[in-house]
Amino acid sequence: MATKSRLYPEQQLRRRAMGWAVRLKVNPEQVQIKRLPGKWGSCAPDGVVTLADDLATEAEDFQDYVIVHELLHLRYRDHGRQFKAMMTALVPNWRDLEQSSRHSTKRQIEQGGEGS
Ligand SMILES: [Zn+2]
Repeated sequence: MATKSRLYPEQQLRRRAMGWAVRLKVNPEQVQIKRLPGKWGSCAPDGVVTLADDLATEAEDFQDYVIVHELLHLRYRDHGRQFKAMMTALVPNWRDLEQSSRHSTKRQIEQGGEGS
């Protein structure tokens, strides 16, 4: 099937997300990979984490940044001090990754909600 080869990196992305979930000791209801125009990921209040399908072809450190960001929302709903402290502990260069993603893709990790 022609779609097989496109699915494969997405499966790897999902595996990567599940690995981080174990490491962070969070338990997402579901990790889904979908077309998400204009953003890289989202975390619904019911625990469903969604990652953009084209994240699968981005650099691995950027994948980690988006994955960890969304999974941390299972613990912290906002981007408060604790959230940022965890990001720094887990993905020390996340601020650089965030900057470069904004400059290269003009795309925020999540639409709207990014306060600071
Ligand atoms: Zn967020």
